[in-house]
Amino acid sequence: MQLCRFNDNRLGLVEGDRVKDVTAALKILPAAHYPLPTHDLMIANLPAIRAEVEKLAKDATVLALADVALLSPVANPGKIVAAPVNYKKHLEEAQADPQIHHQNQVAEIQRVGLFLKATSSLIGASQDIIIRHPDRRTDHEIELVAIIGTKADRVTREDAMKHVAGYCIGLDITVRGPEERSLRKSIDNYSVMGPYMVTADSVKDPNNLGFELTVNGETRQKANTNDLIIGIADLIVFASAYYTLMPGDLLMTGTPEGVGPIKPGDVIDARIDQLGSMKVKVR
Ligand code: MN
Repeated sequence: MQLCRFNDNRLGLVEGDRVKDVTAALKILPAAHYPLPTHDLMIANLPAIRAEVEKLAKDATVLALADVALLSPVANPGKIVAAPVNYKKHLEEAQADPQIHHQNQVAEIQRVGLFLKATSSLIGASQDIIIRHPDRRTDHEIELVAIIGTKADRVTREDAMKHVAGYCIGLDITVRGPEERSLRKSIDNYSVMGPYMVTADSVKDPNNLGFELTVNGETRQKANTNDLIIGIADLIVFASAYYTLMPGDLLMTGTPEGVGPIKPGDVIDARIDQLGSMKVKVR
């Protein structure tokens, strides 16, 4: 199943180039009271939401996917967990280019560990990337994102994939420089998720997905998730050894070689096999 969030927080079932408006499915969610939960309510109730979506789909209003404004497929992730250099060729590229590494901790992911991006940096495909520091180099990074479906606390490798609700494409927009990653990558609008969530049962092998990112039609990054240094299951083991992963948490798995600068006016086109594609404007 492919689920999008669009326009004014509506829920859509994506079928090919069409969207069925199934917003009424959200009525089954329990009322949230202060203090709000630290997980995403819709993802935490995904099996029930899916059952409702299937019921509503028959009589739903149909829209063209191209005509809706896409929001992040997850509204309220508690955490955005991200893997630094997790592709061998990107590690080599980063170590060779002082503009990328800036004497920062560019080393094997096993040694550097994971980092967090502020959830306030989250946007969807139709919400533009707004360059905040035009005087500094700002790069695109395309990444496979795993959406956590159920609470995961110190899980084993055998159980890890059971905690994945689905996948989407992520852009980890990054200011290069000497500061901590969490600062340079947490700028408003610098975590783009989209175009929609594809549930885990609809993705054949997440460890073998080809993907590509172009800027203004020129290919910059092209790789396959089978080149990940630490695969999805082991990333979940790694992350959950430190903090409990909650429904809706987003796990950005790292970017391959080919990172490069973007500037206002650029259009990024990002595509991952089985997960669709999205065009994102930079301004
Ligand atoms: Mn990244």
